[in-house]
Order: sequence, then structure tokens, then C-alpha cells
Amino acid sequence: MLRCSRVSAVDGEGAEAVPGAAETLSLKLERKGTMAKAFSKGMDRRSALATLGFAGLGLVGMRWPPMHADDFKADALSKVLPQFSAKSREQLLRLLTAPGFSGQIPISEVATLAASEGKTVNTLMVELLPLARTYARPPISNYLVGAVARGSSGALYLGANIELPGHSLGFSVHGEQFALSNAYMHSEQGVTAIAVTAAPCGHCRQFMIEVSPAGDIEVLIAGSPAVKLSTLLPMAFGPKDLGFKDGALPVKEVNLARPKGASDELTLAALDAARKSYAPYTKAHSGVAIGTAAGHIYKGAYIENVAFNPSLSPLQTALAALIVAGEDSSAIARVALVEMEGAVISQRSVTEAALHAMAPVAKLDVATTKMAV
Ligand SMILES: [Zn+2]
Repeated sequence: MLRCSRVSAVDGEGAEAVPGAAETLSLKLERKGTMAKAFSKGMDRRSALATLGFAGLGLVGMRWPPMHADDFKADALSKVLPQFSAKSREQLLRLLTAPGFSGQIPISEVATLAASEGKTVNTLMVELLPLARTYARPPISNYLVGAVARGSSGALYLGANIELPGHSLGFSVHGEQFALSNAYMHSEQGVTAIAVTAAPCGHCRQFMIEVSPAGDIEVLIAGSPAVKLSTLLPMAFGPKDLGFKDGALPVKEVNLARPKGASDELTLAALDAARKSYAPYTKAHSGVAIGTAAGHIYKGAYIENVAFNPSLSPLQTALAALIVAGEDSSAIARVALVEMEGAVISQRSVTEAALHAMAPVAKLDVATTKMAV
């Protein structure tokens, strides 16, 4: 379960502990026409919001009183994004609480925000990081990461880090992976820039090279000049080293057959995700669909990496989609995995083990597919 007893300091120097903050806050987010379940897990959105008061970008040392359910709409955003105008915060709140919000800020909304704030999109991305970071779920490290990616379309994508107690650290999703997988699932043709709360780790630089084999993604960190990935990762080991010219984007749909007898909505959603998956090195295409008790479905495609380990499993991608929609692992009721028959690797065991750790009552259905003829 994504659980920790309380939130403590994050992000380095000057950050302070927040004893009991998670317990004293009670935020609810109105979504999809109903009040979403309160985030009852320890390191959740409301604790993240609380922690940001002490450790957000430029907010170190800043405090505010605990927030309550009814405060969220007006107050939480003004505390997370104090430098934004009330008009921009209202615009963001409308987006964040719209039914079906999926962590994407469409190009038209980005243009409006940039115009009303009088800022460049790069600056806007950096200033949106405290918001992205409220989606972080790091109950092991308590280190909150936020990321905002910009797709070729000009849309922005939020991301944050996820950790899973009771399972291998290798299952962690880094903030950059979250934001980039979000752009991937929205079928962006490419990603031109990514803003991050701290310099990307080596794992993320390797993940990024798959999305941008030429290394031309701009990496934006508050207080530092923009830098290209090729500068952060010189002499990169990329797709070309295993004989591939292209990377993960643009998404290339794979023509996979419908699994025998599969007709339920969740399995077909997993099949749809598998068709979007990127698996040039193993050809083991796979996709996951998470179904919640409330009937929402979140899809995740497998996104492979030339260095293998930074690959994102389809469950990780789907989990990011669930969290950025404002839900939590406690909402997971059923999961469908669709993967290739007789492939050299399988996502089954990691999906079972991760689900066992975070949603033990969730039912897993696995179906196999093959290339359609
Ligand atoms: Zn990383």
C-alpha cells in the first residue's frame, strides 16, 4: 500500500519536517461529477500539497495553516502557485477538476496562461512544477519530484515520482518518466522540453534518450540555463547502438489481434494500450488497463528502453495515468494485461507482484495476443 505515517522534509537544504501534517489535513477534489475519494493514503496529494509549503520551488521556509476539504478550490492552488494571478489559477483549477483530466494542459490553455502571466512557455513550465509535484507518491524517500514535459503539439504534461513500499525499488517511476509517459499516452509526435524540480538522474537521462535519440530535448531547471539532453548525456548509448534509427516517439501503432474470446471493456482497453506499446528490442508488446470501482479506466503502454532497465512496464504507465487523474491505488478494482503470446519476456510476474503490494484485492486478468494477419 502507498503508505507512510507522516510527511517529512524533502528536496534538500532548508526543508523542514512537518510533524503530523498529513493527519491534520483533509482535502477533497471534486472530479468527474462526484466527490472523489479523499486521499486516505499517507503520502498522498494533500500531504504533498502540505509539504510543498516548506519545500516547493522558492518556497522553502514558507508556511501556511493546514487546509481542509472546503479550502481546496480557492486556497490550495494559491498556496502551491502563489506567483500566478487569480485568473490563471482559476483557469488551472477548471482544467484540473474537469471530468477526465489526464495531466495534459492543451496548447490553447498553455497560450492563454502564458499570455495572462506575460511569461514564456519555458518559464511557465518551471513555475508549474510545484503543481506537478502534488502528484508525487514517494512514501519511501519522501523526496517529491515534479516534472512538466512539452510535446511537439505545444501541450504540457504533468508528472511526478511514484514509489511502491513492499516491492522492488526498481518499480519506482521517476518524475520525468511519468511526464514523458503521459505525453506518450497522448500520442505526441515528440517531446521538445522537460522542466524538472532537480537535475535528472542518470536513469532518467537514459529514459529520455529513447524519446529523443538525437538528445535535443531541452531540460529546464529553476535557476539554471536551459540545457540539451545531449549535453547532460554525452556519448549516449541509444537506440542506434542496437540498430534502430528511431526512438519511442512518434507512437507507432502495432497491429495486434484481439485475444480469443476477449470482449470485456477492460481487456479491450489493455489491447488498445498494447497496440500503442514500444518494444523494438524484445517485440514483447504489452498493455495494461486499470479499472476502478467507480468505473474509470486508465491505460498504460509498455515503453521499452535500449538499456533495458529504465523500461516502463505497462502497469507503471497506467499507474501514472491513474494518479494524474487524481485517483490513488486504493481505487484499483481490476487490472487487465494483454501481452504477446510466446514472447521472450512477460509482464505478468511484475504486474502480479506490484499489484499484490499496492492493491492486494484487485483482480488481474491476463490475455495473450499475436500480430494480426
Ligand atoms: Zn530520475
